[in-house]
Amino acid sequence: MALTSEQLEIRAMAREFAAGEIRPHVEAWDAHRALPEAIFGKLAELGFLGLRAPEDHGGLELDLVTALLAVEALSWGDASVGLTAAIHNGPVTRALVAFGSPGQRDTWLPKLASGEAIGAFALSEEEAGSDPSALACAAHPSGDGWTLSGEKRWVTNGERAGLLLVFARTGEGRDGISAFLVDRSQPGIEVVGRERTLGLSASESITLRFQDLALSGDALLGAQGEGWKVASDALVVGRLMVAAQSLGVAEAAFEHSLRYAGEREQFGTPLSGFGAIQEKLAGMAQRIAQSRALLQQVAGEVESGELVQGGSFPRSLPARAAMSKVAASETAMWVADEAVQIFGGYGYMRDYPVEKLMRDAKGTEIYEGTNEVLRWLVARDAIREAGEG
Ligand SMILES: Cc1cc2nc3c(=O)[nH]c(=O)nc-3n(C[C@H](O)[C@H](O)[C@H](O)COP(=O)(O)OP(=O)(O)OC[C@H]3O[C@@H](n4cnc5c(N)ncnc54)[C@H](O)[C@@H]3O)c2cc1C
Repeated sequence: MALTSEQLEIRAMAREFAAGEIRPHVEAWDAHRALPEAIFGKLAELGFLGLRAPEDHGGLELDLVTALLAVEALSWGDASVGLTAAIHNGPVTRALVAFGSPGQRDTWLPKLASGEAIGAFALSEEEAGSDPSALACAAHPSGDGWTLSGEKRWVTNGERAGLLLVFARTGEGRDGISAFLVDRSQPGIEVVGRERTLGLSASESITLRFQDLALSGDALLGAQGEGWKVASDALVVGRLMVAAQSLGVAEAAFEHSLRYAGEREQFGTPLSGFGAIQEKLAGMAQRIAQSRALLQQVAGEVESGELVQGGSFPRSLPARAAMSKVAASETAMWVADEAVQIFGGYGYMRDYPVEKLMRDAKGTEIYEGTNEVLRWLVARDAIREAGEG
């Protein structure tokens, strides 16, 4: 798919930003397990926190393919920055744009686009990960509003967020789940803990507790009982954002490998002269290109609402997005693993960049739906399509 001049421009701008403002600090952020406040201001200044928000709400209103190119470039800089941007511009912004009332959109979209409020997506719980229909966090009607109680686990951006998109039980079963816009600054939201993660160390993975938190009636996003629909819709975009994040990690690992293989000599020749290393480099280039092509195709389908017809491929957008996330995250993990191998003993050391990329890549196979569960979704869709003839 040929990119337009605007898409190339945005990608170049994001790469330049990542090279100048992110990459020089990555090691320190990883070691300190935090992103500095200043980076959010800089991201907002260039519009990276309003990639998908409408222009009349202060956003760039980019088409999905372009927004994904920006997220990929930011993730090439650092996967923690990429994850923060992916959740914020992905499921949180998407849910507001698709399901928000005019008042909710007017309140929150300008804050998200300007970086005044960072968005977080709070679906998972201790006992409800791959099966969020088992969630227990509950909202009870109270006067004109609601009272929210329960815990959410692994909330990315959970501590610094200004807006939490929280999914809570308002009835039985899947139709008993509702989505709520929770102002993070209101009292009554307790940070129970922060996870120590394998990778993505600068990104926050937070457990939040709500204890009889009072919400206004206007906090309900979409209709009561529509939470499953809101989450499923938001996760289509969210999973494509994770795919873009994965490609940023893979691209970084590939570039480091190319450079190192050209510089490091053994047996009197650069590593890049060995067939075994060339095979790895070729595999990296091929898998990245394949995953990127699939991502851009599916993003185009989401944007236009038109699916590629024919063949026995899954034809629902959730399955297409799931397939793209699985492909890109496995590319990231495989490429990062090969990069560590190409670096040899140095690859295993913290002093070189590729071990971090391998740690970061692993997360993409797990969040926003594990790859096992997403494969299940893809297979169910394909089987249904085949059955329908
Ligand atoms: C870094 C990080 C950031 C995260 N950020 C967020 C966030 O911002 N918001 C949020 O809501 N959540 C977030 N999560 C949570 C994440 O989405 C869950 O961890 C994930 O959905 C898996 O749930 P679980 O950990 O409970 O694993 P489980 O559901 O217990 O699964 C354990 C294993 O069993 C497999 N499995 C489960 N069911 C099936 C099945 N039907 N078929 C085959 N295999 C199956 C899984 O694939 C996995 O391998 C984050 C997680 C991480 C690691």
